[in-house]
Amino acid sequence: MRFDAYVLAASIFNATIGRITPRSNDATSRSAFKTCGRIQNALGADVVQLSGEEYSASATGAWNLFNSVSRPTCIVFPNNAKDVQVAMGAIFQDKIHYAVQSGGHSAMNGWNTVQDGILFYFSHMKNVSYDAVKDTITLQPGIHWGEALTQLEPLGIAPMGGRFGDVGTGLLLGGGLNYLSGEHGFSSDAYVELDVVLVTGKLVTATATNEYSDLFWALKGGANRFGIVTRYEVQAIHTGTNAEKNWFGGFIMYPNSSADALLHATEKFVRTVSDPRASLLMVFSYNGTEPTPIHLVSLFYHGSSLPEPIFGDFLSIPAAFTQLSPVSYVEANSLLGPGADRGFGQLFGASAFNNSVGAETYFTSFREFSDYTFKIKDTLSSNVLAFTPILDSQILAGRSRGGNPMDPPRGNYVAIQIHTSFANGLTSLPPSVADARRTLFERMPKSPKRPFYINECDASQNVFATYGRYKDLKRTYAKYDPTRFNIRFTDGPIGL
Ligand SMILES: Cc1cc2nc3c(=O)[nH]c(=O)nc-3n(C[C@H](O)[C@H](O)[C@H](O)COP(=O)(O)OP(=O)(O)OC[C@H]3O[C@@H](n4cnc5c(N)ncnc54)[C@H](O)[C@@H]3O)c2cc1C
Repeated sequence: MRFDAYVLAASIFNATIGRITPRSNDATSRSAFKTCGRIQNALGADVVQLSGEEYSASATGAWNLFNSVSRPTCIVFPNNAKDVQVAMGAIFQDKIHYAVQSGGHSAMNGWNTVQDGILFYFSHMKNVSYDAVKDTITLQPGIHWGEALTQLEPLGIAPMGGRFGDVGTGLLLGGGLNYLSGEHGFSSDAYVELDVVLVTGKLVTATATNEYSDLFWALKGGANRFGIVTRYEVQAIHTGTNAEKNWFGGFIMYPNSSADALLHATEKFVRTVSDPRASLLMVFSYNGTEPTPIHLVSLFYHGSSLPEPIFGDFLSIPAAFTQLSPVSYVEANSLLGPGADRGFGQLFGASAFNNSVGAETYFTSFREFSDYTFKIKDTLSSNVLAFTPILDSQILAGRSRGGNPMDPPRGNYVAIQIHTSFANGLTSLPPSVADARRTLFERMPKSPKRPFYINECDASQNVFATYGRYKDLKRTYAKYDPTRFNIRFTDGPIGL
């Protein structure tokens, strides 16, 4: 659709009658509209859209319902880095609010969408390719992990991403946790080369050794603050084809009566396990407005069975349902489903414990989580307390590739995620929910120096301040964005 006065009138009309958040016609909206016109003239009406089917599907497509109600003045669907450069350059000159969306899975409000501003939406950049000489995989930002894994599986290789197929590449910018992490590090530790459009619109290629090595490093945890990545080249991991069942594992569901034993088993796993081939995701959950507890562990070993000394506790705890078998890496990543359910408002929260906190700390976290659940139960669809052990070997693997801003100290620790899904269709929350969340974050135990996971935090948490190299990250941010344009014009993590 072309840019003209008719489009403005039509889009305001659409906004008023058909959309949850009306688009305003104030100065902000008008200047964004002008910039949209300018970049549409430069890039064409397929790339810069102000309305229409693709615009609407994209504006409303975010996984988190709270992020599907804003209406960007226009959406840029880049075909290449040049398109991003042109649009970003105009945004910078005209001082327009903007956001970037790749897989759409952020639970932080406004981090991947914008009202009366410009949204970059990467659905036209979804290629993945393999360079056998360099043994690297190149990902365009719009691909989702499930798509990348499926396309590369016949070659027996995989990029490090996440554990759910519908999630996208924004995960890399926050670090990334996956079933290969014990052996190879955070997902972003596998970076080889990144193309990045800086806030000014300048395109740079960053590697571990060139003049942009500090930017390369910062993008291993700096989230959306350091520029727009238009190409990720990452180390290929040789996981095997679907026919080769190189992993053993699956999931086990437990009744609430097993909760205490599961907390003990999780604490022991974090304290004792040193085998990089072992991975675990322990999920305590409540479902519904009369919260019903059900707990699930997903456990995988890169080998032909689950070693008893590592997983024996989980295998012997009374369970409701067990599904364990030899699996390929792709199968391991699809066992819990794609994580694609839409229509629910979502919020995350984070914490982290070191490996010496003792079982009582796990019990306290479960108690606080349960109290929070019952306080907000009337608004609830489901509530999850998830533990991902991060092994010392993961930290060492990251360090051997140049390190990352999180820079956890040596020793296992556990990343904790609180994931609240609100009732289907609920778009505004009573103040009591915010109160309950504040109390939860105050009371939730945490260990000093253990980094929170920024992709699974609450927007109010200063996760960067938990990073081992917070000061270096701040310095690097000041170098690449001296006018603090990103912080002033994009929602994202606080603290830089
Ligand atoms: C169901 C589910 C399962 C999950 N499982 C895992 C898991 O197994 N492991 C794990 O580590 N995490 C997991 N996460 C958390 C996940 O890492 C974050 O939600 C992540 O931010 C999602 O990335 P995305 O591209 O899908 O989302 P988006 O919302 O598109 O992007 C996330 C953030 O990155 C920014 N961004 C995206 N692309 C770019 C770009 N090219 N340049 C600059 N900024 C960009 C966005 O602006 C946004 O702030 C899961 C989340 C969900 C909802």
